[in-house]
Amino acid sequence: MRISMIGTGYVGLVSGTCFSEFGVDVVCVDKDAGKIERLNGGEIPIFEPGLDAMVASNVAGGRLSFTTDLAASVAASDAVFIAVGTPSRRGDGHADLSYVYAAAREIARAMTGYTVVVTKSTVPVGTGREVARIIREERPDADFDVVSNPEFLREGSAIQDFMRPDRVVIGTSSPRAQQVMRQLYRVLYLIETPILFTELETSELIKYAANTFLATKITFINEVADLCEKVGANVHDVARGIGLDNRIGRKFLHAGPGYGGSCFPKDTLALVRTAQECGAPLRIVETVVDINSTRKKAMAGRVLAACGGSLEGKTVAVLGLTFKPNTDDMRDAPSLDIVPALVTAGATVQAFDPEGMAEAKPLLPEITYCEDAYGAMTGADVVVLLTEWNEFRALDLDRAKALLKAPVMVDLRNVYTPADMVAAGFTYSSIGRPAPE
Ligand code: NAD
Repeated sequence: MRISMIGTGYVGLVSGTCFSEFGVDVVCVDKDAGKIERLNGGEIPIFEPGLDAMVASNVAGGRLSFTTDLAASVAASDAVFIAVGTPSRRGDGHADLSYVYAAAREIARAMTGYTVVVTKSTVPVGTGREVARIIREERPDADFDVVSNPEFLREGSAIQDFMRPDRVVIGTSSPRAQQVMRQLYRVLYLIETPILFTELETSELIKYAANTFLATKITFINEVADLCEKVGANVHDVARGIGLDNRIGRKFLHAGPGYGGSCFPKDTLALVRTAQECGAPLRIVETVVDINSTRKKAMAGRVLAACGGSLEGKTVAVLGLTFKPNTDDMRDAPSLDIVPALVTAGATVQAFDPEGMAEAKPLLPEITYCEDAYGAMTGADVVVLLTEWNEFRALDLDRAKALLKAPVMVDLRNVYTPADMVAAGFTYSSIGRPAPE
């Protein structure tokens, strides 16, 4: 089996590498020549734990290679995966499908023999049919099927997620294409991973329904956290108390500053738009989108409150900038709302992130970047814990206290325990947990 992966970003690079680990011959294609050059020089352009070793061993094994030459790669492939970006379209929130459609045209021109064209990118219902139409228009003679195979991996644990997924979803009614997909995922089939075959449209919708459901769960617990603060309840215990009910489940019940990242914000918005256009509005998801964007903006107010109502002339230490730990991805990170709001309120911001600072610098140019957490806290009036990287979970609190101008912490990820922080001499606030007496 030989495949091309068009788009060598977070999803394309991880999926392509994992397929090569399964024994498939994989060529990862990208139009970004710099990215391909770095990969061919043995450099991994993103931070993803474990990826460097897996890329190196499969390149050495001759199963994985990188190129900008889409045509040559596609011509020699049994299946071609489209893993290009589908960002929010400026203005209306619809998924921008221009990269997907451009890739489909290029693929059509290069295909030889029967080829399965797989959309791995997250694409709205109807996109697969449109990809098929484009290919037929470009190449009326082509022998092909279009399959939807959405990706559910999470940045930060992407390899584990791809190699041991909860399920694989494959949308196609063509038995011939099903056979090719079954062959590609043979290794997962052997370890009894549920493989769900559906129609194209159903598969496309499953991805959006999954992401919007998870975003709804997060938003639900965030609102419950706000209520906890009013009534003196503890959201951590509420989440555990409801999450132990198997019908609810414990995951995605961590209260925080609002969801961010490369998927939830754009996918919730895209599904809202699709549903509105079809005349079947998803009012729950509309509300989730609204609550979440308000929430992220409101987080700076918590820092303001912790500093006595004004940030004018104050220095704020920010620990963590990426949307979650173990990634360098800054797309739609809550820090992009919170940090500018702190600056607008008059604060000087000193930040540190273990992997995200190179990505953050052009997006947040107005702040000082420090060498480590302690550098960020030096001379600061308050420390804000924004991303729960492991190294922020075990800060030397005595050292932090000595470096800070005032021992004040706003913990937006509930990493620390209120009683411990008060015992350590901090004025401490978190999300949805009462301060101890
Ligand atoms: P990304 O921006 O990291 O990567 C996309 C890559 O595609 C870029 O390197 C770009 O240069 C390349 N590209 C664009 N057009 C091309 C073309 N015509 N030919 C060759 N290369 C081209 O994006 P990503 O985060 O990997 O996301 C890709 C898709 O996967 C999106 O639809 C996203 O919603 C979905 N997805 C992402 C995640 C995630 O955690 N990042 C998880 C599941 C699904």
